[in-house]
Amino acid sequence: MHHTITAYSTALFSTWINIEELNLLFDAGDGLSAGLLQKSMKVKHVFITHPDRDHLHGLPQFLQLNSRPNLPIISYPKDSGSFPAMQQFLGKFDPHTQGAQWQEIEDRQVIPIKKGFEVEAIRNEHIDCPVGVHKSLSYKVFETKNKLKPEFQAFTSDQIKNIAQEKGREFLTEITRKNIISFSGDTPVDDYSKWDHSDLLIHEATFLKDESKPNVVSTKNKHSTIDEVLDMVREINIKQLILTHFSSRYAREDIEMTVRKKLKDRKIDLPVFIVYPGEIGRDILAGKPVNG
Ligand SMILES: [Zn+2]
Repeated sequence: MHHTITAYSTALFSTWINIEELNLLFDAGDGLSAGLLQKSMKVKHVFITHPDRDHLHGLPQFLQLNSRPNLPIISYPKDSGSFPAMQQFLGKFDPHTQGAQWQEIEDRQVIPIKKGFEVEAIRNEHIDCPVGVHKSLSYKVFETKNKLKPEFQAFTSDQIKNIAQEKGREFLTEITRKNIISFSGDTPVDDYSKWDHSDLLIHEATFLKDESKPNVVSTKNKHSTIDEVLDMVREINIKQLILTHFSSRYAREDIEMTVRKKLKDRKIDLPVFIVYPGEIGRDILAGKPVNG
């Protein structure tokens, strides 16, 4: 299935990522409704990674336009008080948005989003908090299929029918899960295995230079540098990469040239796409990869 991905992502200002075919939105930064226009009405599930304002300030307008009975469903990290506060405020400010559902979620929780697709939350280390406290999450989208177990694959259809009658369909089948899309949210690079075997990884790369980092780490929430992301990508199995959340201090040309060079140095040749600061990327995967 082609995924029509439209996204805006600039560190500090706003991040939102829409995957049209899955009626899915990751994060809800400023400008989301103005950028998506009518397409925003198709969104049913919104997964917010963390309560930094640039990841949720598009919600008031988005809900004002698109709330309907029981929709959309907004999932957010369990221990962030910002979301209940916003829900309460919007319920008064725009009472018709009360149809929207708000649900708190935690590490490893799985939310079905439509038939054959589910989203799993994974803790990340963007916000410093103890294990068991949930303030910043990454998300993985899985496609699920009910398949005949390997041991029955050589059986005839009559044999299968008999077993199904005797023991039930569930005895014959197993659910397989394929990680089709992963979204890092804001995060430092930590455990490489989180993203291994994602068909598409959407990862933040706030900084082009390592030296920007020490100033930031000590006082603020943690981010990734392009080197850290690409060092990881070289070691894992993914088919496509979208880089997001660059700092607005970098010009488009700097990002393009730097990423191309670093991909070449590491001999990474999978298609890499970029969401540039200040620009909305439309149907990103249909465009030309930066290294193509
Ligand atoms: Zn951010």
